[in-house]
Amino acid sequence: MVDSVFMAELSWPEYQAKIEAGAPVFLALGATEQHGPHSPLSVDVVIPTAVCEAVARRVGGLVAPTVPYGCKSKPRSGGGESFPGTTSLDVSTFILVVRDIVRALGRDGVKRLVVVIGHFENGWPAVEGIDLAFRELAREGIADMKVMRLEYWDFVHRATHERIFAPGSFPGTELEHASLIETSLMLHLRPELVEMDKVPADGPATFPAYDIWPTPEGFGPPSGVLADARGSSAEKGRLLMDDHVALITEAVTAAFNL
Ligand code: ZN
Ligand code: MN
Repeated sequence: MVDSVFMAELSWPEYQAKIEAGAPVFLALGATEQHGPHSPLSVDVVIPTAVCEAVARRVGGLVAPTVPYGCKSKPRSGGGESFPGTTSLDVSTFILVVRDIVRALGRDGVKRLVVVIGHFENGWPAVEGIDLAFRELAREGIADMKVMRLEYWDFVHRATHERIFAPGSFPGTELEHASLIETSLMLHLRPELVEMDKVPADGPATFPAYDIWPTPEGFGPPSGVLADARGSSAEKGRLLMDDHVALITEAVTAAFNL
């Protein structure tokens, strides 16, 4: 018998047995998106998948395959669509991808699902996808599924942010793209994919409080790094990861009465 925390590594009877035993399922919604000249296109896949794996191991859960394509990158939160390698779905497509996966898991008998956002622009479209899945499942008479949706970066102690950022230097979640948090987490999780000597110094971005089409020339830093990544370290990544895993485990355990 193969035993794994990863759903895709199980046979269907092994998967079915775990679902029937009440295993919560974790689904990360990532992206294939530029993260500056120093980080891989997979940042928004690697980090939430690692969070899902660690929490699933603590609560006896399963990790569904991560969705590797996300909603279109917006200039003020991800640098935008113009970078080679940023490979995105229309929001309307993404909503239906989420709907279909949640619906299929519900039909499988999954009772507890945790949807973990790994890419800023996926947040609200994921809400819509889950809503649509619930509407359909209700019509099919499936009413006993519970779903949590969360952004992993919200699960951090204020004291950890204060240790990681110089006073007053936290740029906000939107500008934390390819910057200190994501780069540190990647240095902790996949250091061989990060090249700190290529971290640019063309940020931080200063955007107006509105979107505008077409994107003006020079709207964001040409590197695609929206805030400063130069203070990144594996140790900071470990501190963040410890918080994410501990606090999400706590939240899931409480919400699902595990
Ligand atoms: Zn990212
Ligand atoms: Mn992203």
